[in-house]
Amino acid sequence: MPAKIMVRYGEIALKGKNRGQFEQQLQRNLNSALKDFPATVKRLHGRFMVSGPEEQRETMQQRLSKVFGVVSLSPVKEAGLDLEEIKQLALEMVGNMPPERNKFRIKTRRANKDFPHPSPEINQLLGSYLQQHFPRLVVDLKQPSFILSVEIGYDKAYLYLERIAGPGGLPVGITGRGLLLLSGGIDSPVAGWLAMKRGLALEAIHFHSYPFTSRRSQEKAVDLCRKLALSCESIPLHMISLTNIQKELRSQCPEDLSIILLRRIMLRLAELLSARQKLQALVTGESLGQVASQTLESITVTAKSTGMLILRPLLGMDKKEIVDKATAVDTYNISILPYEDCCTLFLPKNPVTRPKLEVVENYEAKLNLDDLLEEAIGSTETIIVKS
Ligand code: ATP
Ligand code: MG
Repeated sequence: MPAKIMVRYGEIALKGKNRGQFEQQLQRNLNSALKDFPATVKRLHGRFMVSGPEEQRETMQQRLSKVFGVVSLSPVKEAGLDLEEIKQLALEMVGNMPPERNKFRIKTRRANKDFPHPSPEINQLLGSYLQQHFPRLVVDLKQPSFILSVEIGYDKAYLYLERIAGPGGLPVGITGRGLLLLSGGIDSPVAGWLAMKRGLALEAIHFHSYPFTSRRSQEKAVDLCRKLALSCESIPLHMISLTNIQKELRSQCPEDLSIILLRRIMLRLAELLSARQKLQALVTGESLGQVASQTLESITVTAKSTGMLILRPLLGMDKKEIVDKATAVDTYNISILPYEDCCTLFLPKNPVTRPKLEVVENYEAKLNLDDLLEEAIGSTETIIVKS
């Protein structure tokens, strides 16, 4: 018997054409999450049904529970559309339950209205049947120790006891394509995760200053991408060297403006790359007020270097909330590894917190910006990072 896994997705906000697109994209993403397994994904009364080898059920469930758009999933057992068959299957499933879990309720959902018994009646018939066989069982609608769920479909009935949470959100790819500015820090991977949760397919860009920063700091970016790629198929990661630009900034510009100048250059390079890769928005891990480069004034002056939309999914989050999320999505332990980032390398002692656009632009005018940008873009190395 193949393992069957029922996959549920959010449907409340889905209407008309959106719904069809959502379902198609989700089905593609489920298929690609399972491409290493001999599994199939079928549509079923507002859910998906995955079939695959029983020995790989746990691993398939793990993969599916990371796919955006999935609200929850359950390993299910199938019975024919017949009350007696359903009772027998329920008996078998509940019989395997540890005896201390004796408070229960049954929840039936009848998608197929041709089935002769309405949901409350099924609850009742099945409940009293189980109690006859297992006198220890008591019905407890408020705090049951297990819920036996029954879904009456068009070909089969599905029974399950377990519900595994998915991440929710929208299927990756449905809202467009973005470029994540990925440092080695705690924030930007979380920003990327949240952007993907809203359906954005991502490429990532990482700036380094090799040989001033170590190869390990670049590997860190790869490792972070690998974690993020668990929620999509793969993430192209573009590595760009800022070494010469940083040298130039050091010799031409005041130290206290170096971060803001560097940030503006990062955005320009991100924009050039986006044009090449047809990406529609930038995603950063900026929050508000966290550090000198993230005052409202700094963010404003930084953003003026590009015409692209910049998404900042972390804007409303406190550091603690970001750390909790980084832990939950498993990027935190990579982020805290101590390899230097190109920004920390030349960190000014007293960065300007209220930069003036004219002042910043005056210094930029002294740089041979076009050549520097072209040279940096020329240094791009791209790796396709898979989970
Ligand atoms: P993070 O933890 O993501 O590094 P942060 O709180 O340290 O964020 P900053 O160092 O001010 O914040 O960086 C702000 C944002 O700029 C980052 O979240 C990231 O999106 C982008 N960024 C910074 N450094 C780099 C880098 N080396 N490569 C790519 N993007 C970067
Ligand atoms: Mg940082």
